[in-house]
Amino acid sequence: MSQNAIEFKGVTKTYAGQGKSGPKHALKGIDLTIPAGSIFGLLGPNGAGKSTMINILAGLVNKTSGKVGIWGFDQDVNPRQSRAAIGVMPQELNLDPFFSPRGALEVQAGLYGVPKSERRTDEILEMIGLTDKADAYARSLSGGMRRRLLLGKALVHRPHILVLDEPTAGVDIELRQMLWRNVRRLNEEDGMTIILTTHYLEEAQQMCDEIAIINHGEMVVRDTTANLLGRLDAKTLVITPEAEPSHLPTIEGVKISQRPGGKIAFDFNRSATTPGAILDAVRDAGISLRDVATEEPDLEDVFLALTHS
Ligand code: ADP
Ligand code: MG
Repeated sequence: MSQNAIEFKGVTKTYAGQGKSGPKHALKGIDLTIPAGSIFGLLGPNGAGKSTMINILAGLVNKTSGKVGIWGFDQDVNPRQSRAAIGVMPQELNLDPFFSPRGALEVQAGLYGVPKSERRTDEILEMIGLTDKADAYARSLSGGMRRRLLLGKALVHRPHILVLDEPTAGVDIELRQMLWRNVRRLNEEDGMTIILTTHYLEEAQQMCDEIAIINHGEMVVRDTTANLLGRLDAKTLVITPEAEPSHLPTIEGVKISQRPGGKIAFDFNRSATTPGAILDAVRDAGISLRDVATEEPDLEDVFLALTHS
């Protein structure tokens, strides 16, 4: 068994053009391995190709060229085994409106060949908080409930790998927290490998061990979350003066800006200057300080630095 949950090798996807628009090269040769057991974040701006990658994993989109391995199985050589290893919660709400949550989970289990005796429909309904709505028509469910049902459907066959495409987009804070609790539990207790895309970089920063950023169908970076955060040289020093200063110092290479509450922010590069040098310049300008704080870059800064080119 390969220790990689997922392997993309030179994967391309070209969508046929529609009308006057030419063909769309959505993936331009992606190489990516995702280790088993991790919580892995796939990030990138809108249109980067994230859903295309995930839909290829799910078997919903055919790749144009390249190789995809799922749990050690080549997707083209062993389609059944690779399909059985993975559960995908898609971005689109593609639920049959005439099925109840219970019905939808049973049908899904049937599609995956899970014998009746091994189904755990009630357990899944409980986990996704839909026990009360088990027999209601899907069309009567709220958007949040439908998303939870999609998560449940991805879990019926106890996959090794769970893939979540924008699971928290447009979802209220309570549901987001419930979702992340469940995802963490599946990872920690069942050893499930989790792959997710999200627009909320703060979530990715908190949840993911490792992150890949793609842009325009190409891999921009892939690293541990900790290493990515350490990559940026930029840092910010924020001071709160005792009184509004009559003038501000000018410090070479440091960008100075006002913040609400009379605070002043100094953006600097760690390789160029130090907080001590900035504070010296502040004191030389006759400013006395009530408070000083520093801010580390977050994933949002890393993301912007790498994708805004
Ligand atoms: P993301 O999920 O990162 O926002 P997608 O994978 O959905 O990106 O889309 C990548 C690119 O491929 C976009 O330019 C999108 O417009 C295009 N695309 C996606 N699906 C189709 C399709 N079925 N037909 C044509 N173009 C598509
Ligand atoms: Mg998408």
